[in-house]
Order: sequence, then C-alpha cells, then structure tokens
Amino acid sequence: MSQRAVFFDRDGVLDVDTGYISRPEEIRWIPGALDTLALLKRKGYLVFVVTNQSGIARGYFTVETMNHLHAFMEKEIEAAGGAIDHIYFCPHHPTKGVIPELTIRCSCRKPQPGLILQAFRDYDVDKEHSFLVGDRMSDVDAALGAGIPGFLFQEGNLCDFVKRILARQASARGI
Ligand SMILES: [Mg+2]
Ligand SMILES: [Zn+2]
Repeated sequence: MSQRAVFFDRDGVLDVDTGYISRPEEIRWIPGALDTLALLKRKGYLVFVVTNQSGIARGYFTVETMNHLHAFMEKEIEAAGGAIDHIYFCPHHPTKGVIPELTIRCSCRKPQPGLILQAFRDYDVDKEHSFLVGDRMSDVDAALGAGIPGFLFQEGNLCDFVKRILARQASARGI
C-alpha cells in the first residue's frame, strides 16, 4: 500500500541555515522541527529530506563528513520520537566545483526534481497526498516538477506550519 510522504529541505527548514553546514556542533534546530518529525511518524507518513549539498563539489567537505552529520541529526530526531526514511542529497554544482566529476549539470540539484523522483522510485509514495516544505522557490519548483505541492516556510514554528497544511488537506478531502 502506498504511503503519504512529506519532503523537507534541510537547511532553513529543519536546521537554521548558516551556510555550508557540515559539523554536528553547527546544528541549531528550527523551532518545532523535531516535534514535526515526531508528529509525522505518529501519523504514519514517510519523511524524506531532499538537500542540495554543493559544498561537496566545492571541496568544502566530503560525503563522509556529511554522512557523519546526518547520523548525528537522525540520532537527535529519533531521540525526540521522529524518523527520517531517507536523506537524498545532490553533491553537484554546475560551475563552482573543484571536483571535476561533481562539477556537472545534473538532474538532481533543486530546482530540478531528481531527488524527489528518486524517492518515488525507491518507495511506494502516495503522491496525491504528499507535499514538500522548503525555504526557497527552488525547493517549491522541484516539488512542482515532481508533481506534488510545495510550501514555502520562511519563519515561525515548523510544527504549526505543517499542522496547518495537514488540516487544509484534510478539509479539502471533506473529513
Ligand atoms: Mg534551504
Ligand atoms: Zn546533482
């Protein structure tokens, strides 16, 4: 049976975006972020993170460093009762990389929908009832390109924001 999913951008949505975050001590959770992930788990949603990490192409940090950061984030999320099903990342940059094989025009860097489409291949996602939350138009455009709604979150409490989306979807279905 297909499952509803929420896609989150990482920096600026789950954690405060201070630029090219790569170490656990740089993580400051957005208000309500951990509560949001716990809420979605209780409701049976799949949760995905879709994140552009051109810092890898730029040589600022490695995939291993990023994986270490993500393991830290997932541990904190799980301690708070939430879970991330998969983190999809784009390590590329079309022009500013120092690593030649990552300095390419890829199909996964948002606003392209490649990361979301990959999740659709990997999981049985109920696209009708899934959506993305991002803090930039490139996030929203990636969602639209993948055929799901995208919502722009730029300030406030993430849990209140996501609860409003869920309530609107429920009332649109007349339940
Ligand atoms: Mg962002
Ligand atoms: Zn890419």
